[in-house]
Amino acid sequence: MAIRNIRTMGDRILTKKCRTVDEITPKIRTLIFDMLDTMYDACGVGLAAPQVGILKRIVVIDVGEGPYVLINPVITETSGEQTGDEGCLSLPGKSGTVTRPNIVTVNAYNEHMEPFTLTGEGLLARAICHECDHLEGIMYVDHVEGELHDVQYEEQEEDE
Ligand code: ZN
Repeated sequence: MAIRNIRTMGDRILTKKCRTVDEITPKIRTLIFDMLDTMYDACGVGLAAPQVGILKRIVVIDVGEGPYVLINPVITETSGEQTGDEGCLSLPGKSGTVTRPNIVTVNAYNEHMEPFTLTGEGLLARAICHECDHLEGIMYVDHVEGELHDVQYEEQEEDE
């Protein structure tokens, strides 16, 4: 397992559409573990494969209830609305106001290529939308209402 370099906005790979995953190869398995490591290392709640330079339809999400691995995710149902701050590991230090559905249902495959359905509310719904957008080459800044603003870090004493 390894921490991979996170691509930042301006890198053209973040604007590209990702390809479907057909099977779990050893390379894909390593990629998934590395994405989880990279997400936790960066204290993010989600990470999509293009953010580490791989144009495949894989996202990992952990909003504090354990990791979800979503391969070839397809959002099938949304309802409600939430408006709140959103940030991205590919745009460090910034956040902006984005309106998303409050409840999102997604069909995907797990790391064993078994199909499953996940319904998320609140932050999990927001993360699913945000990460699925990455697979289409879309950054959250495309949805931001008003200006991006600087994130105020509250736990600076924990920085090395
Ligand atoms: Zn992002």
